[in-house]
Amino acid sequence: MEFFSVLVVDDEEDFLETLVNRLKKRKIDTHGAKSGEEALEIIKKKPIDIVILDIKMPGGMDGIETLREIKRLQPLTEVLLLTGHASVETSIEGMKLGAFDYLLKPVKLEELLPKLLSAFEKKDAHDQKIRRAKIKEALKYW
Ligand SMILES: [Mg+2]
Repeated sequence: MEFFSVLVVDDEEDFLETLVNRLKKRKIDTHGAKSGEEALEIIKKKPIDIVILDIKMPGGMDGIETLREIKRLQPLTEVLLLTGHASVETSIEGMKLGAFDYLLKPVKLEELLPKLLSAFEKKDAHDQKIRRAKIKEALKYW
């Protein structure tokens, strides 16, 4: 049963594996990606509720570019950015581009979990609004 889907995107493989496993233990449908490109492949195949996205990634796509693409492909997906002290400015730019919030690395689970919950609540409220609007539209007769 999938009740909530999360995608973690980070180039640090140990961190990625640890976080994905921790969330999976909580029965959350969790996916991992080592790069922005890999993340977009997953997002194209299935709807994701929340993306936890590292800002600093080597290679083609950095976090901000990945964020832009995620928002283009799935505008209702909420994105939590992971940032080092040095890239807080970039996170603020990310929030302007529609990221839900950011977290400082090293990530503490007790900080991450409440933010995941808030991001999910926002996503859920949005989904409900759209569903209600569609139902109202389908059922109107005047
Ligand atoms: Mg990184």
